[in-house]
Amino acid sequence: MNFLEEKILRDGVIKEGNILKVDSFLNHQIDIDIMRQMAYEFKRRFHGVEVNKVLTIEASGIAIATLLGHLYDVPVVFAKKSETANCTDDKYISQAYSFTHKKMNNVFISKPYLSATDKILIVDDFLADGQAAHSLIDLVRQAGGEVAGIGIAIEKGQQQGGSRLRAEGYRVESLAIIESMDWQTQTVRFRNQPEMSLEGANLTIG
Ligand code: 5GP
Repeated sequence: MNFLEEKILRDGVIKEGNILKVDSFLNHQIDIDIMRQMAYEFKRRFHGVEVNKVLTIEASGIAIATLLGHLYDVPVVFAKKSETANCTDDKYISQAYSFTHKKMNNVFISKPYLSATDKILIVDDFLADGQAAHSLIDLVRQAGGEVAGIGIAIEKGQQQGGSRLRAEGYRVESLAIIESMDWQTQTVRFRNQPEMSLEGANLTIG
């Protein structure tokens, strides 16, 4: 089991409706040591991939992206969300349905912060249906840049975002992939990953 899976088991809470709460280290309070370990692990997994910018979406991706940008020594850009984003010449705009807030968001980046020469590593806290990731890919494409890879802290493997992105040819590296979780028993099952030792076991949170 890797450090993030251990942290999820120790501090995560499963809520009804297929939601994993990780407020104590990722979505509200930020555990800098875990962020640092995540950044090192992404850097290790994307070894040899050329990256000149790290891109995420507000808010929870920003902490991971910042530490990763520090390791690569490249700028970090975060897409902003807004219910209303006027179509102006100075922004790239896309849309994403929010899984947690159950509403459509406009997602935008000011044009000077993306360019056609960019080789972008996208990072985010969660991957569920892939809405957020697809909106970021769309923004990179609008600027004519290249997506070098996608790094995700927690992928919810029961939802189709990860498999769709991989089928589209993107390299997706997720540090913890949840195969299934049960809020009543607070058990979670992680997908087998090479560096894990307790693969496929049902593990209890708390
Ligand atoms: P997607 O766009 O892939 O459908 O969903 C990813 C986004 O939804 C993430 O940026 C994250 O903010 C949120 N999200 C989706 N599922 C969960 C979850 O189980 N727990 C938390 N904390 N956030 C989630």
